[in-house]
Amino acid sequence: MTDRLVSVAVPVPALGLLTYRVPPDHAMPVPGARVVVPLGPRKLTGVIVGHVSAADTSFRLKDIIQVLDAGAFVPADVVKLTQWVSDYYLAGPGATLAAALPPHGLANQVDRFKTVRVVTLTEAGMVRTLPALGAKQRQALQLLQQAPDGLTAPALAERGTAAATIKSLAGLGYVSIRNDRVDRDPFEHAVTAHTAAAGAGSRALTSEQEAAMAHLAPLAAARAFHVALVHGVTGSGKTEVYLRLADAVRQSGRGVLMLVPEIALTPQVAALFRARFGAAVAIQHSGLSDGERHDQWHRIRRGDVDVVIGTRSAVFAPLANPGLIIVDEEHDTSYKQDETPRYHGRDVAIMRGQFAGSLVVIGTATPTLESYANALAGRYSLVTLNRRVLDRPMAQVQVVNMREEIAAAGAEVVLSRALRAAMQARLDEGQQSLILLNRRGFATSVLCRQCGASLECPNCSVTLTVHRERLARRSDSREGGEWRGRCHYCNFSKPVPKACEKCAAPYLERIGFGTERVEAEVREAFPHARVARVDRDTVRRKGSLVEILEQVARREVDVLIGTQMIAKGHDFPECTLVGVISADVGLGLADFRSAERTFQLLTQVAGRAGRGERPGQAIIQSLVPEHYSVRLACDQDYRAFYAKEVEFRRAMRYPPQVAMVNVVVRGRTFEEAMNTARGLAAAMRGGTGFVVLGPAPAPLTRLRGEHRVQLFLKGTSRKAMRESLQLALSRFTKMSKAIAVDVDPLTML
Ligand code: ADP
Ligand code: ZN
Repeated sequence: MTDRLVSVAVPVPALGLLTYRVPPDHAMPVPGARVVVPLGPRKLTGVIVGHVSAADTSFRLKDIIQVLDAGAFVPADVVKLTQWVSDYYLAGPGATLAAALPPHGLANQVDRFKTVRVVTLTEAGMVRTLPALGAKQRQALQLLQQAPDGLTAPALAERGTAAATIKSLAGLGYVSIRNDRVDRDPFEHAVTAHTAAAGAGSRALTSEQEAAMAHLAPLAAARAFHVALVHGVTGSGKTEVYLRLADAVRQSGRGVLMLVPEIALTPQVAALFRARFGAAVAIQHSGLSDGERHDQWHRIRRGDVDVVIGTRSAVFAPLANPGLIIVDEEHDTSYKQDETPRYHGRDVAIMRGQFAGSLVVIGTATPTLESYANALAGRYSLVTLNRRVLDRPMAQVQVVNMREEIAAAGAEVVLSRALRAAMQARLDEGQQSLILLNRRGFATSVLCRQCGASLECPNCSVTLTVHRERLARRSDSREGGEWRGRCHYCNFSKPVPKACEKCAAPYLERIGFGTERVEAEVREAFPHARVARVDRDTVRRKGSLVEILEQVARREVDVLIGTQMIAKGHDFPECTLVGVISADVGLGLADFRSAERTFQLLTQVAGRAGRGERPGQAIIQSLVPEHYSVRLACDQDYRAFYAKEVEFRRAMRYPPQVAMVNVVVRGRTFEEAMNTARGLAAAMRGGTGFVVLGPAPAPLTRLRGEHRVQLFLKGTSRKAMRESLQLALSRFTKMSKAIAVDVDPLTML
């Protein structure tokens, strides 16, 4: 008799797939089914990944203990997708599968639905004249006589019927009580301020939208894998194209999966889809409660919905037969997960489309170099929208050379003369301004003017950022807060001392500035303006970001200040001015993508201005206005930027010219980390199709108390790189927790 063997993914990081035997008295479980297996002394729930034909039987295989699902719990194609992710990103199958499961998906207890008690009349209870009942009981029966489908316990309670009354009636056999499942609906908390225009499904498309549809609709109907890049300037009406495509695909009986960067930042897209397609839309993102995510997952799995909108992890949604997969704002860095598995949502979406035979549409005003290169090479088709809808002009962009402003007004200047004047004009006219500075806090650091020492994090190799923190209970603080140094990596904080900790001199100076300082300057310059700030410090509380954005939409805010959070897809029709405080914040970073990031951010934020009927203006302050990323963003000339940037990547051999893998090794001491990294590098040298660079101290040499060393693989053969790395890692399994592998890294920091 041949063995009946299965490979199982278990939720243990760094463990590979495990092989088990299925005992003869169990039916053979299908891929995607959950099983209980022994692992050492433990019992674990895992998921069947596949059947195994022959195993290395040098040691005795164990039997699975229990099969929990008769069919697939996770759809088979999603299991296949997670396997691809594990392989490509060199991540453990357990960790990857966890991304595809609902919360507590591997808990043994299957039933986690929220239910409500529904009370209905029994046949006995329908009799008109019932003997010897109290007034309360009679009143309850009357209520139920008018509700043939029954009433929920809360609804009865609202009408004055207590639980005890229902219980007594049930005891008499006049009513019956059943438990109905209710789905927790995350749309209860979604923004609705922008849905007014959503129903307008009948409006005429612009000629560019028409052309886009003429290209994309046949591709969607072809039921074959294809990728299209929609490069459309901000305000060109990409969303309307997505909606129409989605509608066509739904009608053809296939599902639609749409990825967005962060729901909280793009609530309008979700709201538009919900307005167009109603309850057939499910939403999946990390801001939901466990209960909501659980319910949404099961709604999708049951086939109750045919449109799924969600963030990165929604790419694993259990949607049957996706015919269209949309990745909105494909350039957005939040698509990349920064913990294991370090996958890119867009690239996994493309893979899913390949497995399912779907059209994958990736859209943005600022394509990544990777995507644009693929389009130019003919691997993707390219659809371009060059103009805004209704011939609205692009924002008129002006660059202010801050070197001149500093010469005129001193090194402390935050708002240039041009920006001040433009803001004043908006306030006079009752229009809104949006001010971007991609750096939070009040000051970047504190420096001693005597000895040059700065305030540093004890756990990380960075200086502490200065925040002015409100003291909730102390009303005597005239300054309105306490100066605190805070680490943006590990969150360590302490009060800023009065004197230098090194030399005791009382000459501490705050250097550089962030959004808090901009807010203070704006409030001082325009005391009557209504000012709001959006950055990670102000939106910690769930829902507070949505609250602020709704205030902006209701025009209760004149000036909105924020980090890159405000540069994303918002549509503020009343905003006619965008100011960028320091366009060069990101250019100082030792990262090969810094010019691309800067170009994207500036182009996107300039695109927030003038989306309504009035034309928009953008004022960009920069210390290096001649840098091509700043200059070409001002010209809104993507193609020129691409041409220049791709040249740089070619010369320096960076992606998309070559593929890269970043490996970071952590250790309690620098030597420990370096030794492991050296061992890894040595194991990989001599491979063909790639080179190994390093090891060298990582840019953040210390992080959260640990020392970090990094090495890179660069090359044209991903396969060779992967295989070589896999082999090297297999020799260091004891160290696996200290080694972080990042395939296609977005940042080298
Ligand atoms: P993008 O995503 O390309 O930046 P949007 O899809 O947000 O652009 O569209 C910008 C604005 O134009 C939105 O307010 C949208 O409702 C509106 N719009 C889109 N298509 C049309 C059209 N054909 N006619 C009129 N208005 C449109
Ligand atoms: Zn720190």
